[in-house]
Amino acid sequence: MREIRLRALAKINLCLDVLGKREDGYHEVRMVMQTLNIFDKLSVRISQEPGIRIVTNLSYLPVNENNLVYRAARMLMDEFGIREGLDIDLYKYIPVAAGMAGGSSDAAAVIFAMNKLFRLGLSLERMMERGVQIGADVPYCLMRGTALAEGIGERLTRLAPCPPCYVLVAKPPVNVSTKFVYGNLKADQLSCHPDVDGFIEAMEAGDFHAMAALMGNVLETVTVPAYPIIDRIKQFMMEHGAIGAMMSGSGPTVFGIYTDLTAAKQTFYELKKSRLAAVVYLSDVYNVTY
Ligand code: ATP
Repeated sequence: MREIRLRALAKINLCLDVLGKREDGYHEVRMVMQTLNIFDKLSVRISQEPGIRIVTNLSYLPVNENNLVYRAARMLMDEFGIREGLDIDLYKYIPVAAGMAGGSSDAAAVIFAMNKLFRLGLSLERMMERGVQIGADVPYCLMRGTALAEGIGERLTRLAPCPPCYVLVAKPPVNVSTKFVYGNLKADQLSCHPDVDGFIEAMEAGDFHAMAALMGNVLETVTVPAYPIIDRIKQFMMEHGAIGAMMSGSGPTVFGIYTDLTAAKQTFYELKKSRLAAVVYLSDVYNVTY
């Protein structure tokens, strides 16, 4: 096998709490993660010419060591003494700097592809151990599905799949740096924490209304005041049939949960017509593993 084509799935956070800041500067989190049927497409090919070459549809994305795809490939090449080169085509659909783990998921896809192409024999767990060196979300992007992420996001517990529903995703026309959001979060002064365990119980019971009531993301305390358009999109979704709407990750992407496909589709078109969102997708929860 000389080439693998694969899909790198986007994620949302159905619930996101920050417990505090660790001495090493990282934040201790508790998050309920969910993959969606929204993805980047990658093609990873072995080449006789040494080096890593990335071609992407987004001209502003770095194609050197600043791209997480490059760093994942370099890491495995160095560890396993791989002399051949790699040609990687990266077609981005997941919005960039949006809170949907696009870069992390691309890196996870490259680790998965290289494990197969070079027959490295790494188990999922061993791939995840390497993934966390690239980014805290990479292990989850290898695991996929519904999961609880703790620690810096790398300690994962698989959960019963989120009950089937439709997820409307809208990214306002602003980009948000994850560093900016965590840098401005006053983790020790948060007056309100989401009930993550209560949310998981509601999800396991398939109780959408309890889930919607218990959804929460403490990072909204930083991103929403900086970009009030996030609240306007949430409101728009709630007024158009969503049973819950929230910002994903550090934002600015907003997602709305729908049980009624017709309402979700209608709102998808309404949002596309509005000036609130630069990117709108309609997905379902997607639990296909690698
Ligand atoms: P997260 O939800 O993990 O915070 P995100 O959606 O906020 O992720 P990404 O889209 O992964 O953020 O990218 C954030 C930054 O990382 C961008 O500024 C981009 O230049 C850089 N980057 C590096 N590699 C990639 C990649 N493969 N895809 C997208 N961005 C990348």
